[in-house]
Amino acid sequence: KEYATPRGPVTGVRHTSLAIRPNALTALVGPSGSGKTTLLRLLSGLEAPTSGRILFDGVDVTGLEPKARRVGVVFQGYALFKHMTVAENIGFGPRMLGLPGDPAARVAELLDLVELPHIAGRLPSQLSGGQKQRVALARALAAEPRLLLLDEPFSALDPEVRRALRAGLRDILDRAGVTAIMVSHDQEEAFAMADEVIIFNRGGVCQAGTPEQVR
Ligand code: ADP
Ligand code: MG
Repeated sequence: KEYATPRGPVTGVRHTSLAIRPNALTALVGPSGSGKTTLLRLLSGLEAPTSGRILFDGVDVTGLEPKARRVGVVFQGYALFKHMTVAENIGFGPRMLGLPGDPAARVAELLDLVELPHIAGRLPSQLSGGQKQRVALARALAAEPRLLLLDEPFSALDPEVRRALRAGLRDILDRAGVTAIMVSHDQEEAFAMADEVIIFNRGGVCQAGTPEQVR
């Protein structure tokens, strides 16, 4: 991915070939500006690659709109819909997509999963930072994504909340059985949580494997 800028082209992600393990958590680690967010935006369809292809389960999705890709995203400080309750936020995706099943039951299931069954009626302004991120996660999972992308989801939170969420997230992902990629600038966090680690540098992969292999 090359960005066109007034001062000429800027490399987002270089020529890169990468496979993501299904139903596992892959951590993407690397310095600021190394292309981690660009890679996630390419996968979600928010950016189009300058050249190259993206395959989901062997099917080329490069030309597909973000909606059609079924990718869930949780970004740092990801804004919830401020005028909607927690339950409405979580139910938004399933309603938009017209997913089968009872939306209210789905919302309840997700609130249980993130261990916040008691806050369904609250507005985002009435939540703590950690609660907001858990709601953002529930909202992303509610749309039954085939791929979940987390871009430094904890970086705006204080260390204590961060530790609690870290443990919670791993558990939630295991129970949801989803393929997930999490960007972290915290190497310790990545190695502790992930099944696979990809070290990114200057827009490309410099090492990839299990935490044991990469360490
Ligand atoms: P990371 O998430 O690892 O910090 P990014 O993917 O945000 O890295 O950025 C990779 C490179 O692409 C950086 O040099 C950055 O300045 C550049 N870049 C990112 N987004 C844009 C954009 N929208 N326009 C121009 N350059 C961009
Ligand atoms: Mg980034």
